[in-house]
Parts: sequence; C-alpha cells; structure tokens
Amino acid sequence: MVADQAHPVTVASGPGLPAALTSDLVARLTARVAAEPDAARVTTTAPYTGGPLAGLPVSTPADVTSAFVRARAAQPAWAAKSFDERKRILLRFHDLVLARQNEALDLMQAESGKTRRDAFLEVTDIAITSRYYARGAAKLLAPKRRRGAIPLLTHTTELRHPKGVVAVVSPWNYPLSMAAGDAIPALMAGNAVVQKPDTQTALTALWALDLMHEAGLPPGVWQMVIGRGSSIGATLMDNADYMMFTGSTATGRQIARDAGERLIGASLELGGKNAMVVLEDADIERAADGAIAACFPSTGQLCVSIERLYVAEPIRERFVAAFVARARKLKVGAGYDFGYDVGCLTNRSQLETVTAHVEDAVAKGATVLAGGRARPDLGPLFYEPTILTDVTPEMTLYAHETFGPVVSIYPFRDVEEAVALANASPYGLNASVWSRDGARGRAVAARLHAGTVNVNEAFAAAWGSVDAPMGGMGDSGLGRRHGAEGILKYTEAQTVAHQRVQGFTPPPYIPHRAWARILTASLKLLKALGTR
Ligand code: NAD
Repeated sequence: MVADQAHPVTVASGPGLPAALTSDLVARLTARVAAEPDAARVTTTAPYTGGPLAGLPVSTPADVTSAFVRARAAQPAWAAKSFDERKRILLRFHDLVLARQNEALDLMQAESGKTRRDAFLEVTDIAITSRYYARGAAKLLAPKRRRGAIPLLTHTTELRHPKGVVAVVSPWNYPLSMAAGDAIPALMAGNAVVQKPDTQTALTALWALDLMHEAGLPPGVWQMVIGRGSSIGATLMDNADYMMFTGSTATGRQIARDAGERLIGASLELGGKNAMVVLEDADIERAADGAIAACFPSTGQLCVSIERLYVAEPIRERFVAAFVARARKLKVGAGYDFGYDVGCLTNRSQLETVTAHVEDAVAKGATVLAGGRARPDLGPLFYEPTILTDVTPEMTLYAHETFGPVVSIYPFRDVEEAVALANASPYGLNASVWSRDGARGRAVAARLHAGTVNVNEAFAAAWGSVDAPMGGMGDSGLGRRHGAEGILKYTEAQTVAHQRVQGFTPPPYIPHRAWARILTASLKLLKALGTR
C-alpha cells in the first residue's frame, strides 16, 4: 500500500458545487490519502445544499501505522537538507497557493459553507506563514552560543533537532489555515508530518499537500490520514513524537492525558468565549464595523471570534444602534463569488447547537436585537447573524462557546468592571479592546486574560502578526503557534558544552579546601563585574 495510489472516486454534481470541484481533481487529491485501495469510503455533505459532496477513502489504524513508517523513513533525508533547500520548496508553495487560489477558494467554500471573502483570508494567511517560516527558520533554529558557568572555560552551544514525526490534528473551520499552517513550521524544522484533517474538509488539506509536492516536497515527508478520532486517534498518538492538536477543549484534555502518558509534547489550540470591550472613548462607528468583523467571520465558527461584547454604559445605546443596523444589512447566502458577507454553518450539529443556545437564552429572558432564526430558505445550514442582550448566567450561551454567529451584549460602568467581566471565563484565547487612546487600549489589553488581545481590531491584527506567539490561556489550550515558539516546539533542545581547560574538580596538586576558596573568590568577582 502506498499513499500515492488511485482510489475509486465519487463526486457529486449539480447546483451548489463550484467549477473547480471536478472528478479529476477529487481523484488526484484522494489518491494522496494513506489508505488501502479497497478502503471503506465516507461521503461528505455540501453545507450549502445538504447534498453529497465527495467520497473519501477512510484510513484504518494499520494505514496510520504504515504512514508513520514511511514518514520515519523519509524524515532523516529531509532533515539533512539545508534550510535553503527547504526554503526554496516553501517559497514555491507560497507562489503556487497564490497562483491557484481559485481552486482553494472553491474547495474551502464547498466543504465548509463559508463565504469567498472568509476563504480568501485563509489563502492570505498561508502565504504569510509560508514566507515567514521559509525565511525565518534558519535564524530561529541556528545553533546559539550560550554562556558557560565560568566565562571562556566552557564553550556551550544550544542546538535544535527536529522531534522526528509530528502528528497534526486539524479542524474543519479553517481548513487551509489550520491544516497547512501547523504543518509548515514542523516541516521547516526538519520533521516529517502525519496529519489527520477533519474528514468534512479533508479535500482542502489534501489540496495543500498536493501543492507542496508540486513545489518539490519529497514523497513520504508529509502524509495524510482520514478517519474518526475514535478509530485512528489512538494510533496517531501512539506513534507521534509530538502532537499538534486543534479542536475542542474536551478533546484537548484527552489528548493532553494521552500525551502525558507517552511523555511527548503537545500543543493544544482549543476553544474560547472571547470578549470585546468597547470603552467610552471608542470611535463608535469604527467599533461597530469592528464588531461585525469580530463576530460573524466564517459564520462565527472561528476560534478567535467574539461572543461576549462589553460596552461602556454612556455609549451603549449609540453603539448598539450602529452595530445592529450593520448586522441587519449583512448579505447572507451561498455563492462562489465575493458577493456575500456571511455564509452558512458547516454541519448539522453546529446548527443544532446555535439553535439550542439561542432558544434557551430567549426562553430565559434574553432579547433578540438582530437575527435569531435559521434560514432554511437559503439552504439547510443558514442561520442569521444574531445579537442578543439581557443575557444572564443561567443561560447556556452566557459561559459556553456557541461557535456560531451569535453575540451577547452586556453593559459596564467602568474599566475595572469591564476587565473583571471579560476575565470571568475559564477560557483565554483572544480579546479585543476599543479606545481612541491607543496607550489606554494597550494598558487595558495587558490586563485581559487572553493569549492575544487586539486594540481597535477584532482578531486579524494579532493573528496576522505571525512573528508573535498566538494561543490560549486557561481552558483555551497549551502552547503557541506562530513566532519563535511556533517552530521551537517542534524541536528538541540540546546543549553541547565543551570544557576547554580546567573543569569543576580541583587539579591533583590543589587541596579541596583551597579549591573551594578559589571558586568562592571567582564567584564573588563575577558578581562584582556585573556578569549575568
Ligand atoms: P473536536 O475536538 O470535536 O474535534 C477535533 C478533531 O479531533 C476531529 O477531527 C476529531 O476527529 C479529532 N479527534 C477526536 N478525538 C481524537 C483523539 N483521541 N485523537 C486524535 N484526534 C481526535 O473539535 P471540533 O468541534 O471539530 O472543532 C471545533 C473546536 O475547535 C471549537 O471548540 C473551536 O474553538 C476549536 N478551535 C480552536 C482553534 C484554536 O486555534 N484555538 C482553532 C480552530 C478551532
């Protein structure tokens, strides 16, 4: 069994499917799944229409084991390549992603139901991430000289070795960003990758894999398996040298337990209940635009999107009017062009959660200011952008992540109360602060319990700052993607210390007592000289 063999293909046709989604493309992409030729198949559903989308081969635990064997065999030669060689491949990938973006946009929309605008953000994201790690990895991972205990006597170097084979479990909500974005630094660091993209959006992930091969990635270095976590998750974990997981907090906790048992590292990018704080000196119109951008991208199925909106009492009425007016004007619908503002949810269970959260809130006294209903006339999984107020702690969506186009507005009296309310959540992924005074906004931002905080922006400012770490505090996860941390986590640090002359034991002609005095005097001198 090899990863590159052809599988029989099914692809749906008819209304609601884009031009790029041809049988030939699906055949080429599914041929890259690590699965037997006679593998069982699963048919995904097109969110826009509810009709069948594509038939995908399903990997067994044995297929996953074989993928690791191939990855392990390919990894040393990949790690032995120079940073320049790996960089050339990644920069070619960057160019191919931009050149062939329409294919990716079609696939992402067909699989997730998001708008073309939201899908385009993923293309941008992957171009930025590829360029950053292609050009930055050599410096981030170069051997670094470190100080020895006594200057000049010890030559100490910190080396960074690849972990080996990294497992990446990526979700369906940002199928290109999450799949390729977490594999890229792992590959640049010299690892092989075995990835399990979510089945619903696997074609997009396979498209990225296909393009990376076109860019020159050697066979076997990046493999993809498809299947349920309950079927192949344990085999992934058993074989991985490091686990990069994105998904819910509940699954993340299980992954952390399993990684602990195996004593391997894990990076966990989990859920959120992100807060936006609009201070009384905010530019109301700009903040209302920002709130639209914060709450409804990818129909609210974005880990860093805003579900709690705290507004200073003096400007609450004006802000709410501006925000609600904008939300009501949003163009919701299905289309493979840039014409829509909001698409649909990705699967039925998302629609059920959103509906249940809003119904529960309304039944317990919440007021609907905009939206609040499904739109089956537009397609089976459409739900209107929804703004609620009068939300109280008994309501499920007060504290639980909805992961849909629903936001609750709460008033606050002063900054202290705003900070306390925003921080009253076990999650801590992303937050947003609005103020005309940038320094004040940044000062409030620093007090928020969140891995990223955006001032006068929703999430893209922090997410797009790919040179800076991004990830969650508290129940939102462990570890970071982006920046130095986003690649160092895929490496083992090794310290090589070469003792040039005398070590720490005395030479035979110096008694221990005298040696202790010499060392004591040396330590005092080092402190007096200001040495670190
Ligand atoms: P989920 O946890 O239900 O599933 C995620 C993936 O994990 C699925 O592909 C599943 O097959 C797999 N899985 C399940 N058990 C496994 C196991 N034991 N071993 C390996 N894989 C296993 O999450 P979901 O509902 O698909 O995704 C939505 C969640 O993801 C939301 O909570 C969202 O906030 C979060 N998310 C977080 C980020 C972030 O960067 N923090 C980004 C995107 C999504």
